[in-house]
Amino acid sequence: MKRTKIIDAIKHYEAIGLGNTISVKGWVRTKRGNNAITFIALNDGSIVHNLQIVADPAKFDEELMKQITTGACLHVTGTLVESQGKGQAVEVVAQEIEVYGTADPETYPLQKKGHSMEFLREIGHLRPRTNYFGCVLRLRHAMAFAIHKYFNDRGFFYLHTPLITASDAEGAGEMFSVSTLDPNNLPKTPEGKVDYTKDFFGKHVSLTVSGQLEGELGALALGGIYTFGPTFRAENSNTPRHLAEFWMIEPEVAFNDITDNMDLAEDFIKYLVQYALDNNMDDLQFLNDMFDKELIERMKFVVSHDFVRLGYTEAIDILLKSGKKFDFPVKWGIDLQSEHERYLVENHFQKPVILTDYPKEIKAFYMKLNDDGKTVRAMDVLFPKIGEIIGGSEREENYDKLMQRVQELHIPEKDVWWYLETRKYGSAPHSGFGLGFERLLLFVTGMTNIRDVIPFPRTPQNAEF
Ligand code: ATP
Ligand code: MN
Repeated sequence: MKRTKIIDAIKHYEAIGLGNTISVKGWVRTKRGNNAITFIALNDGSIVHNLQIVADPAKFDEELMKQITTGACLHVTGTLVESQGKGQAVEVVAQEIEVYGTADPETYPLQKKGHSMEFLREIGHLRPRTNYFGCVLRLRHAMAFAIHKYFNDRGFFYLHTPLITASDAEGAGEMFSVSTLDPNNLPKTPEGKVDYTKDFFGKHVSLTVSGQLEGELGALALGGIYTFGPTFRAENSNTPRHLAEFWMIEPEVAFNDITDNMDLAEDFIKYLVQYALDNNMDDLQFLNDMFDKELIERMKFVVSHDFVRLGYTEAIDILLKSGKKFDFPVKWGIDLQSEHERYLVENHFQKPVILTDYPKEIKAFYMKLNDDGKTVRAMDVLFPKIGEIIGGSEREENYDKLMQRVQELHIPEKDVWWYLETRKYGSAPHSGFGLGFERLLLFVTGMTNIRDVIPFPRTPQNAEF
């Protein structure tokens, strides 16, 4: 008999027909009951809810019944009926039970409920089987799908930018080197440095920190592109908002100015949050009830309010006038810290904020210089409980001005000559931004640590599973 997914048994039981025999497969969440009746809560990951299996212990082998413990994997054939108890519309009265895999209650780490997130991180190989992670992983999938749908529906093209790159000019973060040289026997130049001409690519290469520079090449040919892939930063910052390997979505659009860029960012995030509200309510409700009582409210608030748009200089004024003592003192020119961003978003405006026109010194070389000569057309989108979720800008399209920044920052021309040529041949105004996928997931799951919204987190000293 063909397997029925638990989501279908629970949500579409009318289509299946009450009284019909179905076959379901999944993992035991709990077993309870007495000599006369046994209730098994079965979950197969298709939905957060469990399917209740009702079994008469007298009809089954005693040994088999003993093997049915939390974590065991079962194949159950039985009749789909209206539930006698409350809490579920339907249940399955078991006719046959097969145990695919047992889970010794003495050692199974998820035997009991209510483990801390910290403990679950230590059992990263099993935590997908918890309700929390089921919700997070289904939401992660839904958001990835919605991202592709959003851009596809609007005529953007998905561009695959390289993960291995020779350019380390972006300045977005420390990079991981990629090499096939034998670290115990490195070829050396006459000056005693490592001779990367002998390496696999004939030069020193690293894992990318962003697909933007290559994304611009696509935008200046196809009009509008987006990237969606892993990025790597070897920052040794053990924060709840940073991973060494994270996923980023980077749209880049020819002919968009900074305002178009802000409009796109706001519309995009609102679309994604609304998509989750429309399609993932079971998971959101579970996370809201069990973890973060304001999750759904916060999501609805964000989709129904305009984001505040504010210049960096005004933001500094607000922070200075706030009377609040920050750990990191405020003055014009500083790179805003998380405490400053969160003050603006959570205390002052109580709304998402898009900050623009940052001092050029604290932003990347490719951002378009404003007429004041001091600030650039950068934009950061700041979110409640998260801080920066998006960083972007209008790009400098003027060859001479871009070249001047390259020289001021001592970026080797041999690394960026191809990028500079886009401003030499058919240059065009264009803009783009990067959305951190896991930061978005923090927002739509209510999780507070970024390690808990990616299946296999990579952080300093941690790459076990
Ligand atoms: P932050 O100041 O928070 O460290 P950033 O300014 O270095 O971020 P950008 O280079 O602007 O980040 O990258 C674009 C987006 O990628 C950020 O807005 C954020 O959402 C996400 N991001 C950046 N670094 C990380 C990281 N280490 N882990 C997870 N997401 C990240
Ligand atoms: Mn940024």
